[in-house]
Amino acid sequence: MAQLSPVLTQATPVQVARGEGVYLYDTEGRRHLDFTAGIGVVSTGHCHPKVVAAAQEQVATLIHGQYTTVMHQPLLRLAERLGEVLPPSLDSVFFLNSGSEAVEAAVRLARHATQRPLVLAFDGGFHGRTMGAAALTTSGAKIRSGNNPMMGGTVFAPFPYAYRYGWTEEQAVEFALKELDRQLVSTAPAADVAAFVIEPVLGEGGYVPTPPAFLRGLRERADRHGVLLVADEVQTGYGRTGTFWGHQHAEGLTPDILITAKGLASGFPLSGIAASTELMSKARPGSQGGTYGGNAVACAAALATLDVVQEEGLVDNARVNGARLLDGVASVSKGVGTVGDVRGLGFMVAVEFTNPDGTPDPTTAVQAHKAAADHGLLLLTCGPYNNCVRFIPPLITTAEQVDEGVALWSKAL
Ligand code: PLP
Repeated sequence: MAQLSPVLTQATPVQVARGEGVYLYDTEGRRHLDFTAGIGVVSTGHCHPKVVAAAQEQVATLIHGQYTTVMHQPLLRLAERLGEVLPPSLDSVFFLNSGSEAVEAAVRLARHATQRPLVLAFDGGFHGRTMGAAALTTSGAKIRSGNNPMMGGTVFAPFPYAYRYGWTEEQAVEFALKELDRQLVSTAPAADVAAFVIEPVLGEGGYVPTPPAFLRGLRERADRHGVLLVADEVQTGYGRTGTFWGHQHAEGLTPDILITAKGLASGFPLSGIAASTELMSKARPGSQGGTYGGNAVACAAALATLDVVQEEGLVDNARVNGARLLDGVASVSKGVGTVGDVRGLGFMVAVEFTNPDGTPDPTTAVQAHKAAADHGLLLLTCGPYNNCVRFIPPLITTAEQVDEGVALWSKAL
């Protein structure tokens, strides 16, 4: 009998039997408040009845229709519906299965379209674990270590991580943009750069919201140098940050390519990229995608997810109850042990642990994460040194459930 790889078993201590809303129930009947949402995936909560019904109906109708040979209704309807929530200029969408695949598709599209070799990504960014996506990823030494040489063509520039630099946000943005300008004439000559790839909130890298001024600085430089601005919204889409897309916190700004996954289909594997039709048509037909991309059941679940997000006002809920979560977590965390910073945007909240000498404190982060799990609150760690604990509840989480989570966190601390 084959055993599960230790890589998996270490990461999954809870044996889950079923999920309902914001709760998971283990095989012994114990209830866990799931503030991981399957790493930001089950936006509508576990097994939302509308998502379940849509998927069940679709399973009995058509499970799979491969988009290079046939089109199906859920795929076409989803493309149409996404048109209602995407920036109007991003009027063409393409579907894949995972965030990593979509990141790679975006990079390939940018290279095809610009005929330029380099991609510029940011320190602490996370874009996935497949070979191409991992090459853009620096958060989490484990993703890169032992894998050298990484795939080439990526250059990294500093991210304006004000807390870690000990600067104000303005100082961090000024430094990061200056450094970027320096790199665009040295290590990454602008004429060779196809794309800037950025997360609207640094996700695995520590839940650091990207300052709108930095996004604007990137947009301005992208326009000046003919570089494409790629927003990796894998974790920040679907209302997670309190606006439908994370980049909308920089009012008026539109990326050239938007990458979406996670919250898109409430747990079914589905991802996508969006761009203008003009840009998208520069990819060679047949050069992108894969056998399972745009699966019919996943698309039906995504359509139901969009309905739920809109009908239940989940974007507003993430904004309002996300602020409540941030306030609550801050009020019970600040001043406790090595808690250094509490920050967040919408339903992405993190506590960063820092030793008195200013060095990151992953030991306490890991202990606090485990103590929370022992109290029935599921959280995740993250951060450049794994020294943060993060809260990513489903977008349906109510004020009472936020308070329940804060109380459990307080006990764990
Ligand atoms: N991009 C971002 C911003 C992510 O947070 C992740 C996953 O956490 C990915 C890409 C990779 O997505 P996946 O794990 O679905 O391949």
